[in-house]
Amino acid sequence: MNLKDYIRVIPDFPEQGISFKDITTLLKDGAMYKKAIDELKELVKHLEIDLIAGPEARGFVVGAPLAYALGVGFIPIRKSGKLPYETIELGYNLEYGKDSLAMHTDAIEKGQKVLIADDLLATGGTISTSVNLVRQLGGDVVGAAFLIELDQLKGRDKLTDVEVFSLLSYE
Ligand code: IMP
Repeated sequence: MNLKDYIRVIPDFPEQGISFKDITTLLKDGAMYKKAIDELKELVKHLEIDLIAGPEARGFVVGAPLAYALGVGFIPIRKSGKLPYETIELGYNLEYGKDSLAMHTDAIEKGQKVLIADDLLATGGTISTSVNLVRQLGGDVVGAAFLIELDQLKGRDKLTDVEVFSLLSYE
């Protein structure tokens, strides 16, 4: 079985016309979850990485085990109002809706090499905001890694100056 067989596609969720890629069916299978993280590690292991940053919530599910596998630290990128210390924040548009993301101002030391990780690249709004936050904090973004890329939405084009690594792609 390959990884794609474990991803459930839900039509018209959360809105009419959106074909939602549900990774919970992959995550609940221990062997396939491990395979996904191991394969992602293979894709990025040539990079020099000090830290992995992942946007909540599914960016934690991908970013934290990848950080553990690579032996580097993990920093959370959170929705506004969740982080307890001093933060910087940026607003962004989603495939469906609007939101803002925040990071602790002391999350990154100037010049640290940061890989950004998330479950899925759609329009690229979440990740370009994450890239901008990391850069504002003085981090050097060495790449962005995803389990899934939705080719049609061309999120990759929003990330022209960032190398994109994805395991699976959908039209
Ligand atoms: P973007 O900002 O448009 O690239 O959307 C990516 C973000 O939205 C990621 O954090 C995903 O978790 C979430 N997302 C968008 N579409 C889907 C989907 O089809 N399945 C799972 N998550 C999605």
